[in-house]
Amino acid sequence: MIPYGRQSIDEDDVAAVVEALRSDWLTQGPACAHFEEAVAKYCDAPHAVATCNATAALHLACLALKIGPGDLVWTSPITFVASANCALYCGANIDFVDIDTETFNISVPALQRKLADSGRDGRLPKALIVVHIAGTPCDMKEISALCRSYGIAVVEDASHALGSIYCDTKIGACQFSDLTIFSFHPVKMITTAEGGMVLTRDEHLADQMRCLRSHGIVRAPNLLSRPADGEWYYEQVALGYNYRLSDLHAALGLSQIRKLEHFVERRQTIAERYRKAFVRLPLTVQHVEQDRRSSYHLFIVRISSELGIDARSRVFHQLRSRGIAAQVHYIPVHTQPFFSNRGFSAKDFPASIAYYRECLSLPIFPELDCEAQDHVICSVSQALTG
Ligand SMILES: *Cc1c(COP(=O)(O)O)cnc(C)c1O
Repeated sequence: MIPYGRQSIDEDDVAAVVEALRSDWLTQGPACAHFEEAVAKYCDAPHAVATCNATAALHLACLALKIGPGDLVWTSPITFVASANCALYCGANIDFVDIDTETFNISVPALQRKLADSGRDGRLPKALIVVHIAGTPCDMKEISALCRSYGIAVVEDASHALGSIYCDTKIGACQFSDLTIFSFHPVKMITTAEGGMVLTRDEHLADQMRCLRSHGIVRAPNLLSRPADGEWYYEQVALGYNYRLSDLHAALGLSQIRKLEHFVERRQTIAERYRKAFVRLPLTVQHVEQDRRSSYHLFIVRISSELGIDARSRVFHQLRSRGIAAQVHYIPVHTQPFFSNRGFSAKDFPASIAYYRECLSLPIFPELDCEAQDHVICSVSQALTG
């Protein structure tokens, strides 16, 4: 089977993890700090906090923003469930903003309308979590200006978007947001097996997340509430978690980030080949604006339901029968039973429902070679025209 995505691990990565295993540190230690520095430097952000996965990073981001019971958070319905669950972990409520039909990201006009309506009803969110779907950056200038005018924090769930660029700045620089989250799950841009990170320009938010990442414990003299009893002394000042990234994982991340630009270039080349091959086919490729670079975590196409109500499913199954594991990203979060039980109905976000009927993620990953990609292109073309 050709998967829709997979990790690239080489001998340098293996050696880096073995070296970490032989070092004095196994849990969070110097490799973790170096990995944080490397990602912060790559993105040009001053602070980075590594976590055991991006779900934990999203949770820490919400906690640092003091999201709690009675608060409301908005996100996109077209995302992985973790983008919504982080608000619920904090006891807050979640709501969604419908997507743009061509970029599959949060629609700015839909956001504008919802803010105006909610402002009138006094039901504004405390934070908006945007998702750069497939690595394609959202309209951050417009989104950040809107949110700022209502006093709403902006969090980027950039799980797909390490290596993406928006208006000459890397996603992760937090130019238009308070916090940015990356995932290092194996299908994402680089991997630590499991792992995540939060980036921010706000030192206070970074300190908070560092504290909450490790049980709510602090040691720095300026953060203690009482004089230290001795050198062993620490204080628990908040209800924190164990969300640390181990040095074994961080060593893998450090080795991987050296190859990130190469990975992005490979994905761009593959995406360009798909775009050229598909110009004459009855399908629509995700739109990427001129002023941004997509990392192409995913290559998403829409197969119009005008070709038949189950045209997408037909293509999906034909690809499976030819050894190609295309995927669907994502089932709209608000239609999941857990969320429909909380009162959401499919018709609340019609653009997301229409997208879900038509979307398909085709294989894209650095080691996908031309031969395998040609097999995908031929199979898509035959499924659509045969
Ligand atoms: C993968 C992903 C996550 C969760 O990442 P983990 O590291 O597996 O916790 C969250 N949001 C989005 C959009 C993702 O794609």
